[in-house]
Amino acid sequence: MNVIEQIAELREEIKEHKRNGRTVGFVPTMGYLHDGHLSLIKKARAENDIVVVSIFVNPLQFGPSEDYDSYPRDLRHDTSLAREAGADYLFAPSVQEMYAAAPSVSATVKDRTDVLCGKSRPGHFDGVATVVTKLFNIVLPERAYFGQKDAQQVAVVDGLIKDFNFPIKLVPVETVREDDGLAKSSRNIFLTPEERQEATALYKSLQAAREAIGNGQKNPETIIELMKTIIDTQTSGKIDYIEIYSYPELKPVDTLKGRIIIALAVRFSGARLIDNMIFNA
Ligand code: AMP
Repeated sequence: MNVIEQIAELREEIKEHKRNGRTVGFVPTMGYLHDGHLSLIKKARAENDIVVVSIFVNPLQFGPSEDYDSYPRDLRHDTSLAREAGADYLFAPSVQEMYAAAPSVSATVKDRTDVLCGKSRPGHFDGVATVVTKLFNIVLPERAYFGQKDAQQVAVVDGLIKDFNFPIKLVPVETVREDDGLAKSSRNIFLTPEERQEATALYKSLQAAREAIGNGQKNPETIIELMKTIIDTQTSGKIDYIEIYSYPELKPVDTLKGRIIIALAVRFSGARLIDNMIFNA
């Protein structure tokens, strides 16, 4: 596996592969890799001739009071994990390399951002859309792999690909969890040992919601209350949101039917965690 920090160098490599008719699969990440990222890389490995993984903690997608500075970084460890998972290139540009000049054009996501993380993290998806556009133009992949854990991101990237006519297939990948159900996340290391135990309640609340819906509950408010009670009684975290929408449209639903997403965000002392379930009600 080749570790590359310069855009021009990666472009040269990709150009050569394309000349030889090879397909490129792309896995964008912010690093501090875990099994969730590795499942994306392995899927990309199985479906493409060449696999490019990027590691870039994108300042544009962090708000002023968010954890950009403290976001965990460990390029050495990431390099060995990405190599083992089968990546051919690890693209790890500096902020200076990605944003050499002050931007004269930026992306604004217009749809599907007034809910979920879009509402509690203003500007976040504009930053995501900008960096994903740049990375797509640098890597020129046939396929791009994104985790369903960030379901709203998948919806936004789907819109980006369609609106801007990127000839790229978006491949959503199921959420990878710890044995006790907690969704794997680079931010889990910021939980205290007590919070780490409590955090299993997030997935439990989603499971309870799904079960209640399976048993015939059709009222979204009732489901949200049920989940709130579980999280409030079993954790010290503060609920940022628990919301239910149609999926992938992310429109409010009066009655639970059809394909829906139940999503939540909870703030613990050192980390804000998100999780969701998408299923047919
Ligand atoms: P991040 O480094 O957190 O920006 O994540 C990079 C990619 O990995 C995104 O597409 C995420 O949705 C995906 N991802 C993160 N955690 C998981 C997980 N637990 N299971 C599956 N995919 C994940």
